[in-house]
Amino acid sequence: MSDFRNGEKIQLTNGDTITVKQKLGEGGQGAVYKVDYNGKFYALKWYLPNYLKGLKPNYKKFYKNLEHNVTSGSPSNAFLWQKAIAITGKKSKGFGYIMDLRPQNFEEFTKFMKAKVQYDNTKVLINAAINVVEAFQALHRKGLSYQDVSPGNFFIDKTNGDILICDNDNVAPYGENLGVAGTPGYMAPEIILGKDKPNTNTDLFSLSVILFELFFLSHPLEGANCCKYPCLTTAIERELYAEKPVFVMSKTDHSNAPVKGVFSNLINLYPTYPEYLHEAFEKAFGEGLKNVNKRLTERDWLKVLYRLQDDSVVCPYCKETTFASMVKCACCKKTYPIPYKAVLNGFEVVAGNGKYLTDYHLTHGSRKDIKGTFVESKKTAGVFGLKNDSTIVWQVEYPGKPVMTYENGKVVTLIPETVITIGNNKVEIKK
Ligand SMILES: [Zn+2]
Repeated sequence: MSDFRNGEKIQLTNGDTITVKQKLGEGGQGAVYKVDYNGKFYALKWYLPNYLKGLKPNYKKFYKNLEHNVTSGSPSNAFLWQKAIAITGKKSKGFGYIMDLRPQNFEEFTKFMKAKVQYDNTKVLINAAINVVEAFQALHRKGLSYQDVSPGNFFIDKTNGDILICDNDNVAPYGENLGVAGTPGYMAPEIILGKDKPNTNTDLFSLSVILFELFFLSHPLEGANCCKYPCLTTAIERELYAEKPVFVMSKTDHSNAPVKGVFSNLINLYPTYPEYLHEAFEKAFGEGLKNVNKRLTERDWLKVLYRLQDDSVVCPYCKETTFASMVKCACCKKTYPIPYKAVLNGFEVVAGNGKYLTDYHLTHGSRKDIKGTFVESKKTAGVFGLKNDSTIVWQVEYPGKPVMTYENGKVVTLIPETVITIGNNKVEIKK
C-alpha cells in the first residue's frame, strides 16, 4: 500500500467517512495519520500489509478482536482505545482503526527511562504508578488482558502523573491470544519458556516490571549478570529473564546486584523509598517470578502505593518529597519535624498539604471521595488541622477536654491524643 494522500477519504465500517489530514509517523505495525472525523481530529492507525500477512493464521481473529474492542469500549480513560474500524474498500484490502490523538502534555515513558524527561516530583511519580495499576485493574475487571506490555506503550504527564496506554491492538479476552508473545524483558518467564500464553497472570508480572522501572528507571532483572555479555542474544535473554532470573535488589542472592557506574539510577533511588516498597518488589521478583500465585495483584500494589501517598511528607529543608516512616529525609538525610498523623483502621495518614482523609480510609471506599482535608496553619508552618469535608458531624475529644462537635467546613487542630469520631470510625491523632 502506498501512503494515503492528504485529503483522501477513508470509509469506516460504521458507514461514516474520515478525511486524511497528515501522516504523523510509521512504526513496525503500521502508519499513523491525523484524520478529520465529523469536524474533530483523531489518529488513524493503518496496518502495514506485511504486518497483516505476518498475523496469519490469526488474521481473522485479530480483526474480530478489534471489532470486539470497538464495541465493548475503553476500560478507562487511561487507554487510547479503538473507536471505530477503518477500511478503504477499493484501493486496499487492509484496515486500521481510529483513536483519540495523544495530547502534547503526554511524554513517552522511554524518555523518562533515559532521564530525558523527569517527573516534577515524587508525588507525581506515585500518582503515575497508581494510574498504571488502576488502568490494569479496569482492564482485567472487564475480562481482558493486555498481553504485550512494553515501555513504548506508556505515556505520562510529568506534571500530574496522568497516564495514557496506547497500542491496545492485542488486548483480548481471557484465554484468547492473537499470536503475540510479548516484548523481551516484559514477558513473564513462563511465556519465554513456552509453558503458557499471555494472560492476566503474565500481565501481573509485566505490570511489576513497569512499576519497578517507573520508580527506579532500571530493569528489575538486569544487574551484574547482564554486564557479563557484550550483547544480548535470544539465548542470553532466555537465561536472564526466564531460566535463571535473579532480582537485582534481592536480599538473599547478590549474584545479580547492580554494578556501580552502570546502574547509578537504581543504586541512588532504591534507598530513597521505604522498606515496605522494597518488600513488595522482593515478593514480585522473588517468589512471584516462578509462582504465579505469589505475584502481587493490582489490589496488593494499590495498597502499597496508597500507603506511600499517605506516608509522604515534604522535607522542610530540601523541599523534596520523602516518607515519614523513614524518619530522616531520604534526600538531604536531615531529621525534620514530622507532622502529626491520623491513625484509623490500620492506616496512618501523615498530615501535609494536598493530603486527605478519604472514604478509602473510613470504609475501604474510593480515595477520590474526600472526607477531610489537611490544612496548614497560616501562622505556623508545619502545624496542621483537619477540615471536615463530609456531611457527618464529627465528635472531637481533645486530650482532657469535653467532646465538641465539628460540622462540615470546621477545622480540627491536630493535637496528639485527640480522638475524632466519624460515624463508626475512631480517628486518633498521633505523633
Ligand atoms: Zn530533605
